[in-house]
Amino acid sequence: MSQYLDSVMETVVARNAGEKEFHQAVKEVLKTIEPVVEKHPEFIKEKIVERLVEPERQLMFRVPWVDDKGEVQVNRGFRVQFNSAIGPYKGGIRLHPSVYLGIIKFLGFEQIFKNALTTLPIGGGKGGSDFDPKGKSDREVMAFCQSFMTELWRHIGPDTDVPAGDIGTGAREIGYMFGQYKRLSNTFTGVLTGKGLEWGGSLARTEATGYGLIYYVTRMLQDAGTDWNGKKVVISGSGNVAIYANQKATSLGAKVVAMSDSNGYIVDEGGIHLDIVRDIKERRRGRIKEYVDEVKSAQYVEGCRGIWSIPCDIALPCATQNEINGDEAALLVKNGVQFVGEGANMPSTLEAIDTFQNAGVFFGPAKAANAGGVATSALEMCQNSMRYSWSFEEVDAKLQGIMNSIYDQCTRTAEAYGKKGDLVAGANMAGFLKVAKAMMAHGIC
Ligand code: NDP
Repeated sequence: MSQYLDSVMETVVARNAGEKEFHQAVKEVLKTIEPVVEKHPEFIKEKIVERLVEPERQLMFRVPWVDDKGEVQVNRGFRVQFNSAIGPYKGGIRLHPSVYLGIIKFLGFEQIFKNALTTLPIGGGKGGSDFDPKGKSDREVMAFCQSFMTELWRHIGPDTDVPAGDIGTGAREIGYMFGQYKRLSNTFTGVLTGKGLEWGGSLARTEATGYGLIYYVTRMLQDAGTDWNGKKVVISGSGNVAIYANQKATSLGAKVVAMSDSNGYIVDEGGIHLDIVRDIKERRRGRIKEYVDEVKSAQYVEGCRGIWSIPCDIALPCATQNEINGDEAALLVKNGVQFVGEGANMPSTLEAIDTFQNAGVFFGPAKAANAGGVATSALEMCQNSMRYSWSFEEVDAKLQGIMNSIYDQCTRTAEAYGKKGDLVAGANMAGFLKVAKAMMAHGIC
């Protein structure tokens, strides 16, 4: 990193004390944009990088609600409106007990570049709460969501900030939040994405992040002269992204042998039966270990991190941040992994990324590889504005086109700035350039 970018990084650490995930996300970007900054001294003069690492606005608020025992519970809500240079803030809402400002800021920061790569006019933002929907009744989840939206609604809008789902926020939670927004604002607008199909949702949005990941990795495979056929795949997580990544990869001839949740992982060498996983996770809201009750030949192992000890050709981390560290990456390399595609946000530590890239593993970074979800959310916004719905096939075709365009931007930009084949640098530089140029055009703001 240049002295200039080093000093920006030092300021970020000093001004955002204790927010280690945010530091990590900023460092990953600053490490790679030096060639662009060198070529554009005007970005330094106008302090584009210093402005980019500071959110335009961050909101923190109390979320009180009453549980089924009649007791009052108090959670903390967040919305970080990070950057609106190229469009309204856009990014999901994470509901997980680990949520604090540092996690929402890392996610919001990443979202700026990811959204720029989609080619669609959306800025970067993210929100969430330390509320845990797991084990709560539907009524409790509704009470939380209504209280959360009772504060959030005044800060968002279809042309201002459009939240969506993320870990812990699926169709049920979006439904409760949308209902409350509609009631408070007395409007029916596309203020949230990930909506139900009956009330403004887009076909293929549910599948989009997982499918998009597979479309992106398909291009990586093609560039290496191969395809999915017969490849052994390990996917962490068993939520929205993991399930649809499995579905698409399997349909293209791959064999997915392992999946996980935060308690442990399952191994089914014959190929995981996705219908059983979906029944457990989507219908019953159960645990992944229930899989072995139905498939006797499969194995369940307690503890989720051991999943990276399973030999595979392709690893798709689709659970959460920092789920692969340097040692786990080294183990994957030792066991022959050739391709890694990040479905989750920042699932690999900086050491893990270095390990993969130094070993010559084809590495597809989250900002680019999982951008299909937010891209399809932007397509949902587009359909809402037109009061129109496209067919599944139309949305899926647009998604494929967008993922191809993202892949092309990553490879072309990497090559143009002397980093041929480095998709991390390509994604960061391409996203940064687009946002930086828009910020320059808007003057100091
Ligand atoms: P879900 O809530 O549907 O699923 C999350 C999965 O990851 C679950 O299997 C969950 O297990 C597991 N998980 C969560 N936290 C941990 C943890 N600390 N350790 C191990 N496993 C964990 O979320 P999504 O599938 O929507 O999101 C997964 C990742 O993809 C996140 O990083 C998210 O930010 C990213 N992403 C999602 C998009 C989307 O469209 N949904 C778009 C782009 C990125 P358990 O049930 O035990 O908690």
